[in-house]
Amino acid sequence: MTDTEFVLPENPLSTGQDNPLARPPLETVTVTSWKVACWGDESRGLGHPKVWMQISPFTGYVDCGYCDKRFVVDREHVHDDH
Ligand SMILES: [Zn+2]
Repeated sequence: MTDTEFVLPENPLSTGQDNPLARPPLETVTVTSWKVACWGDESRGLGHPKVWMQISPFTGYVDCGYCDKRFVVDREHVHDDH
């Protein structure tokens, strides 16, 4: 049985997040951009290929499919980049 999650491609229409109850995030990071990049934590040997993810405005967060890091948008300080 595999427990591999797919990584969302860069897609602003993406709202289909993984089931948030499936696994708790290892770490939560607050960001001020709707688009975030993650490449793991190389200092802890948890690096992975760099991926870009789009935070869903509906949930306000996105989980990295590689390292389960959760990026939560700070709606008060987020800057729209479009
Ligand atoms: Zn990651």
